[in-house]
Amino acid sequence: MPPFAHVLAGFTLGFTFRKELGRILRETPPCSAITNQDPEHLASGGITALALDFDGVLAPHGFPEPLPEAREWLARCCTVFGADRIFILSNKPTEARRIWFRDHFPGIRFISGVRKKPYPDGLHKAGELAHVPLSAVLMVDDRLLTGCLAALAAGARTLYIRRPYRSFRHRPLAEFFFMLLRAGERVLFK
Ligand SMILES: [Mg+2]
Repeated sequence: MPPFAHVLAGFTLGFTFRKELGRILRETPPCSAITNQDPEHLASGGITALALDFDGVLAPHGFPEPLPEAREWLARCCTVFGADRIFILSNKPTEARRIWFRDHFPGIRFISGVRKKPYPDGLHKAGELAHVPLSAVLMVDDRLLTGCLAALAAGARTLYIRRPYRSFRHRPLAEFFFMLLRAGERVLFK
């Protein structure tokens, strides 16, 4: 598969699901972040498994481990959903991150060996591993054209993070690039 096939898929799938992406954008408050999402509340809405993006959602871009407040939130999620129903679905599942999770949250699994988001493959795999229907899987992502789109294509649910973690000191160029990308997505689907 060409290295940027998932980017092209973002445009074609994005066009197919443009109305749904617009709805997600309209319905998500600007302050949306993981820490203002109560795991109990998510579970009461019928969510039984989580697929979590890493960059922007658990930590700024390129960080090897989640921020302390994201760790606390993960621990609460483990209590509510069970660690075996929580997955990291990142297009950058680095070895350092995998090792960190193995040491701190051994039950949480990385989804790997699948086509990158926005392809729905990773969500299908999460649903199979958790033994739950995709309609009960919540994809948490700060990108409309990758994670949110993958969830729409898979028939899973979306939690769009509009206030992602960022660190311009750690990775100024990458953060600036992704800031433009996120803003561009919002213009596209407004
Ligand atoms: Mg991200």
